[in-house]
Amino acid sequence: MVPELCFGCNAVLYRGEHVLCAFCRNELPLTDFNFRDENPADRLFYGRCQVEKVSALLYYPENGIVRNLIHHLKYKKQERIGGWLGTWYGQQIRDEPSLKGVSVVLPVPLHRKKKRKRGYNQCSRFGKVIAEHLGAVYSEKHLLKNTPTRTQTSKNRWKRWKSTEAAYRLQRPGELEGRDILIVDDVLTTGATLEACVRALDSVIDKRIFIGVMAVVP
Ligand SMILES: [Zn+2]
Repeated sequence: MVPELCFGCNAVLYRGEHVLCAFCRNELPLTDFNFRDENPADRLFYGRCQVEKVSALLYYPENGIVRNLIHHLKYKKQERIGGWLGTWYGQQIRDEPSLKGVSVVLPVPLHRKKKRKRGYNQCSRFGKVIAEHLGAVYSEKHLLKNTPTRTQTSKNRWKRWKSTEAAYRLQRPGELEGRDILIVDDVLTTGATLEACVRALDSVIDKRIFIGVMAVVP
């Protein structure tokens, strides 16, 4: 059996360790955000769309362990990293009073072509495990991605917002009526993608939206 290596330092992991060794795990830049107090991730959405609370497990610095983890999760077929992060985050937020009413967890969707290429949506395991911890339903059937967008790095925020807004659509809005919804994503940068997802839920009556991400750019 091939020994499992740490994604931070490449050391061979001990029995019972997964993804990261104890040392690298201790080095992770955890945010101290919760779902009660104002934080910098919240402030990104002020005046843009109606969100109750935004939070993140980790910071996403320019380099280091977190970047390596997300890179392997997205591009190196290491889907289990999402489950590992979800377990951690799920344990952390399961007793958050403001999330007590959350009954459905939606991932930011990937277009089916991209999903096929990658083999999975990198937010799936993360979202499923969090849903289990919250006693909520995980669904990929409600929020869908329309068309793959071109690489958006050269566009400004307005153009990016315009191109992402039409990129998502909602199915069966009635099933989400009156619910508290948690949307999950991998990395929060400008908030444009999540804003577009929230706007896609505009027609749902009487809902409240929370957002939880693996990591936020500081
Ligand atoms: Zn390590």
